Amino acid sequence: MLSIKNLEAGYGKVKVLHGVSIEVPKGRVVTLIGSNGAGKTTTMKAISGMLAPSAGEITLGGKNIFGLESHRIARQGLAHSPEGRRVFPTLSVADNLLLGAFPRLTGSRARGDVQNDLERAMDLFPRLKERRQQQAGTLSGGEQQMLAMARAVMLNPDIILLDEPSMGLAPILVDEVFRIIRRLKEEGVTMLLVEQFAAAALAVADYGYVLENGRIAVQGPAEQLKTDPAVVAAYLGGG
Ligand code: ATP
Repeated sequence: MLSIKNLEAGYGKVKVLHGVSIEVPKGRVVTLIGSNGAGKTTTMKAISGMLAPSAGEITLGGKNIFGLESHRIARQGLAHSPEGRRVFPTLSVADNLLLGAFPRLTGSRARGDVQNDLERAMDLFPRLKERRQQQAGTLSGGEQQMLAMARAVMLNPDIILLDEPSMGLAPILVDEVFRIIRRLKEEGVTMLLVEQFAAAALAVADYGYVLENGRIAVQGPAEQLKTDPAVVAAYLGGG
């Protein structure tokens, strides 16, 4: 599905990624963990076209997406729910969600039934359903983060990149975010997940990669990483 080989990217002269290779097979959840500054967000941005990668290969369903502009990559069926809360504050929750479907309508992908997708998103995110007519800017921070995630779901994508969906959320909302990720997984949605809660990410993922200083240091089935002594010591609060 999504295949990344020897990806290099950075900011100006500063190189952050030094040849990152990641495979996300169809229907699987793959997680990318690592300490602050390891380059997780940079990896996600370079995949989705928010940042121009400098070298490597990226294919989605066998088609090259390396270096394409982000809106073209979205049309190919890749949704990126970025770190932070990117919503349109003066629009309602429902309108924010409808805008999530927009790239699909302008692309070559099937139109599908956007209204049905909206209902599905509301079912997945009951908190948003109750607030569908409310201005997005008046939602709590956590609710705005869920709205950003729901908008990615509205693209009805082949794959979703989720960058720290639980960041800054109260524990009860963190549980809800992971419940939603599990549900999406059950529905067969392919996901690449970056998470600060490595244990929770490995619990939901099939496979994991550990990024250290812009390089993949360890990779393996999530079950295996959960018990890998080095991973436990560095990322799972063991020692
Ligand atoms: P975190 O969990 O803290 O978000 P991360 O693994 O996602 O960490 P990145 O955000 O990818 O890390 O950052 C990797 C490196 O790139 C860091 O050293 C960071 O300072 C640098 N960096 C990130 N964004 C920019 C930018 N816009 N301009 C310059 N340097 C940047």
